[in-house]
Amino acid sequence: MSAPPIEYDPPLDACPLCGSRDIHPFDYDFRGAHIARCEACGVRFMNPQYTDAYLTAYYSDYIPDGPGSPEERAFRLAQKTENIELLDRYLAPGRLFAIGCGDGVELSVARSRGWTVEGYDVDEATTRRVAQVTGAPVYTGDLFALPLEQGAYDCVYLDQVLEHPKNPAPYLELSRRLLRPGGMLYLGVPNIESLASRTKRVLGRLGLSRRRMRFYDTFHHLFYYAPSTLPPLLERRYGFRVVSVLGDPKPRAHPTVATRMWDRVVRHTPWLDSTMVILARPAS
Ligand SMILES: [Zn+2]
Repeated sequence: MSAPPIEYDPPLDACPLCGSRDIHPFDYDFRGAHIARCEACGVRFMNPQYTDAYLTAYYSDYIPDGPGSPEERAFRLAQKTENIELLDRYLAPGRLFAIGCGDGVELSVARSRGWTVEGYDVDEATTRRVAQVTGAPVYTGDLFALPLEQGAYDCVYLDQVLEHPKNPAPYLELSRRLLRPGGMLYLGVPNIESLASRTKRVLGRLGLSRRRMRFYDTFHHLFYYAPSTLPPLLERRYGFRVVSVLGDPKPRAHPTVATRMWDRVVRHTPWLDSTMVILARPAS
């Protein structure tokens, strides 16, 4: 994939997630992207952000056309199966809406486990293909204009999505509106305060990193969350009650007793993992 030229919007003067104007430059990375921190909610975000034109060019080639190698397919299947299994521990299968459903693996997995699934993605060709393969309604276009039934979903599922949009707030507001009382929001996002990211940040600041602050993934990630920032924000501003904040250990091709034990530790120790899962119910 050839990278489109980088263009930026004028800088934001308020935090898109909490509205505070108390935002300050925090860091920069090897690509020249600048990262701000909101002093009110603690979330970090790229500021200035990419233009829509840059992001459209970037995402036009985002989802691979082919199914990938057998190993990649097996990995993704195992990963999505673990995600849905986690969900199944908290609620019985019902209606699930996956925002950013990509190639649709989680839709297939969820359906095979008894969920009634619907999905959404920005890529038109991919959503058509996923709808054909899964037989599920898969929407594209303006997410916020879709005729979705409010208060009707048992789960709204966003895995590796909320770090991408220029304004994540409407995604959280929509998720809250779609969930029935007692339903569950599944949010998987990179954890910018993981042990690995903290270590790399120190190395970057000491000038010991070849690609400074690469872990922000500013190629396409615009928001950077941590267990200390996003869960409180969900409760204070978006009408959720956080049930669990967990690590999201990657599936292994050849698990052993030791790796299984370690992965269980990581699951319950989110700062050890570069990805976290937040499970939250609508606050009553
Ligand atoms: Zn904020």
